[in-house]
Amino acid sequence: MGKLIKEQEEKGRLHIDTPLMGESLVGKALLRRTESAEYFRMQPDVNVLKIGGQSIMDRGAKALFPILEELVKAKEKHKILLMCGGGTRARHVYNIGVDLGMPTGVLSKLGDKVSAQNAEMLSVLLAKHGGAMIGHGAHLEQLHMYCQLGYIPITTGIPPYGFFEHPAELGSIPPHRTDSGACLLAENIGAKSLIYLKDEKGMYENDPKKGDRKTMKFFDKIHVDELIEMDLEDLIVERPVLTFLKNAKTLKSFQIIDVLRHPEHLHAALEGEHVGTIIYKD
Ligand code: ADP
Ligand code: MG
Repeated sequence: MGKLIKEQEEKGRLHIDTPLMGESLVGKALLRRTESAEYFRMQPDVNVLKIGGQSIMDRGAKALFPILEELVKAKEKHKILLMCGGGTRARHVYNIGVDLGMPTGVLSKLGDKVSAQNAEMLSVLLAKHGGAMIGHGAHLEQLHMYCQLGYIPITTGIPPYGFFEHPAELGSIPPHRTDSGACLLAENIGAKSLIYLKDEKGMYENDPKKGDRKTMKFFDKIHVDELIEMDLEDLIVERPVLTFLKNAKTLKSFQIIDVLRHPEHLHAALEGEHVGTIIYKD
């Protein structure tokens, strides 16, 4: 044993004195003790809006322009971070990748470019209203300032897993796409709200486009545990989002709204009104 180490040991200073010392950080009892009574929220005034790739962007000008008009009006009163979905082009590249037997992480890397293309388009369309593309996961501490100055920060929705994407429970499509990215970011910045802008008014018992929506059960408001328990065949948001909300520390709910038929619901949802499906915890 070296002299220095021996001296330090004698003084009891070999290790930094921390309650986490010697812990695997896996033990359940220890992890429970790390729960905070209250979590710090960096951006409690910022609303995270995820605009659908397939559900909205791919429908082009007719669908998008009325929504952008609402958005530009809304940013006068509300702080907004706009996140973008991928959509049909991402589905096309996934399909080719699946045919080639590409692993999930590769598919994830292929799909993220499409979400970035949509973010690029939105930042061009919104440029004269303060639309400003921010780097992937960058400048999040400055969101409040950007919004205060009249900007609409825009970023890609895809989380940066890439080659680190989790294996999917079923098949090989990357399970964490842009709904997941928006949820993770909203949680970690301590956002005011998370709103999914889609082409359906919320969660039905199954995809309303694949059956008779009139006879389908619609969930106006539902607890996330109940939804997980039901294990529905198909969902309007990516499945991991439910577990994210269940385990979230700052995010207490999110809302899914139909901005295709009702662009004005964007404003209502920002005002805290219930106009779609609210999925909540606690
Ligand atoms: P986005 O482009 O916003 O990511 P997606 O097309 O990926 O949207 O997902 C939204 C679509 O999910 C809806 O347009 C709807 O057709 C479909 N969907 C699947 N299951 C459900 C469900 N249980 N309730 C409502 N919509 C559903
Ligand atoms: Mg989707």
